[in-house]
Amino acid sequence: MILSWYRSQRDEFGFVPATRLLWRVAWRRAVVVAGNKLLPRRLTCPCCGWEGRRFFDYIEMGYTLPNAECPRCDSHSRHRALFLWLRDEYRISEKRGTALVFAPEKALAPLWKGAPNLRTYKLDVEPGRGVDILGDVMQLPFASDVADLIWCHHVLEQVRDDRVAMKELHRVLRAGAGALIVSVGIGAQETTLEFGFSNKALSGNRRAFGADFAERLTAAGFSVSSVKDGLTASERIKYGIHPECFFRCTRNQV
Ligand SMILES: [Zn+2]
Repeated sequence: MILSWYRSQRDEFGFVPATRLLWRVAWRRAVVVAGNKLLPRRLTCPCCGWEGRRFFDYIEMGYTLPNAECPRCDSHSRHRALFLWLRDEYRISEKRGTALVFAPEKALAPLWKGAPNLRTYKLDVEPGRGVDILGDVMQLPFASDVADLIWCHHVLEQVRDDRVAMKELHRVLRAGAGALIVSVGIGAQETTLEFGFSNKALSGNRRAFGADFAERLTAAGFSVSSVKDGLTASERIKYGIHPECFFRCTRNQV
């Protein structure tokens, strides 16, 4: 895993910067592992039950996110927040019907398995991570009005045309009780910035969404409400979760 990551960094940035980055990652990880062995525990990962002193830093070329990644399941703040919300607020284990999960997150896999009455289809444009169906969110291989839950996080940044994708999600969502739970990275700018290409320096994103993200969902036909994770300050510290913003969208019955 680390070797394939190193190769991709080397191909993109060259041998010397990639090797420097690898040493930095290895050194920081060694420090965190030692701290987790020697110091009292104070963090818990809700996704996998790991306990320790500190999460791994998430280090990419050009930026570092300290205390971010679970050493056991690789979850980040967003995954841990979504896990707790799906389990405790949404009560996913009790749900019935059909769920479409885009770009399935490894850390959330136990929750989908633990919902026996929910038919879950995991979709992505690439195989792996337990994907059931290879599919493009701009052209979904489903009839209209079939999905009781659509789970779509940090996907719309990367599709060629997010407005087409939102219309497709609207088409397949069941009118009335169906819910699209969606999030993207939202920057400080008012309006979404289109790059016009897949920006490798930003994880292949084709746009940087701005404060108009909810308006774009509304324009696709959804009723949109923002969701709070509902965590207390002490829970945020315990689980290593920053405030996360996501949206619940429904489709009115015609
Ligand atoms: Zn974990």
